[in-house]
Amino acid sequence: MNNIFCENIKKVEISGIRKFYNKVLKVNDAISLTLGQPDFPMPESVKNGVLKSVDENKTTYTPNAGILELRQEISNYLKNSSIEYEEDEICITVGGSEGLMSTLMALINSGDKVLIPNIAYPAYESITQIVGGDIVNYKLNEDFTINITHLKEMINTHKPKILVLSCPSNPCGSILTLEEKESLHQIIKENDIIVISDEIYASLCYGDYYSISQCYDIREKIIMVSGFSKMFSMTGLRVGYICTTKYIMENILKIHQYNVSCATSISQYGALSGLKYGLKDVEIMKLKFKKRRDYVYKRLKDMELEVCRPDGAFYIFPSIKKFNMTSEEFCHRLLNEEKVAIVPGTAFGEGGEGYIRISYCYSDEELQIALEKLENFIKKI
Ligand code: PMP
Repeated sequence: MNNIFCENIKKVEISGIRKFYNKVLKVNDAISLTLGQPDFPMPESVKNGVLKSVDENKTTYTPNAGILELRQEISNYLKNSSIEYEEDEICITVGGSEGLMSTLMALINSGDKVLIPNIAYPAYESITQIVGGDIVNYKLNEDFTINITHLKEMINTHKPKILVLSCPSNPCGSILTLEEKESLHQIIKENDIIVISDEIYASLCYGDYYSISQCYDIREKIIMVSGFSKMFSMTGLRVGYICTTKYIMENILKIHQYNVSCATSISQYGALSGLKYGLKDVEIMKLKFKKRRDYVYKRLKDMELEVCRPDGAFYIFPSIKKFNMTSEEFCHRLLNEEKVAIVPGTAFGEGGEGYIRISYCYSDEELQIALEKLENFIKKI
């Protein structure tokens, strides 16, 4: 029966994050720090936007690219971060996920090379496999910044069509520095390459926010994918967006149109209301995440784990290399012996071996208990 499936899909596995999460569900009373689902309820403004649109029967198809008011509001919002896209250069998608899929489907011919960071969010590799592209990985430095020399070598050797950037990073929590942005700007200028910049965590930068999408002179080579899942803690409403030039967008829209027609109308109205009235709630959530980041980082340091302080998103990625076990083994034992679930670094590529991902978008109480248990486990092994 395996032969009924297309060759590309046979190569793809379900995400290592979900695989581990499914194991957690089978262990009674386990505390899970596995998913990237903020624990805050979505802002009142988003709820009101959704409810009002239901009351007003705004439940029909919207334009394929999404409702105009939302695209205009996104355009204004991005201008605050020096990113310039007009409403006809924006398409509202079904989460960032559909944004990534539609973009890669529109660009990849069989065998085209896609340069993807190793360590990174697993969807980049899986989508590349689904659309028949070839994965080429680039390495990150020890502090999870981009190894620019290596990246240049990879571009020269492999001549990839696409470069994926992912900052703030899931799982590393690193953000783009000004130096990285400047080096990347130069590299992109000099090479025939299209950049997909996944900025779904842009609203969760604890340091200065730099983005390749701010480089106006190379905008014809840039596709930014972002969304509201994390920003408004509304992962289930499924609203993301793509920003790019009209020339590229015309072709992405063909995939988007035939796949989903449009993003869910009432969710789009929720996001619109959030952008108009809920930005202060985003700041409050960010401050709370920052406090948790500081707490988790200090606890891990106190346990004498080697760990970089994340400057974005809500993940921390400590090294467990000194324990001489694989990430998978470490996480399984922690789950079985202490009932705490975290994700093995290998779920994010081979480069993740020797690391674990802790998601700190959980309550202070859960974090405290889970870290105590982690400390007990470390003392024991
Ligand atoms: N990019 C990254 C880096 C992510 O971590 C996620 C979700 N965890 C997504 C994209 C997809 O987000 P969405 O829920 O909006 O589809």
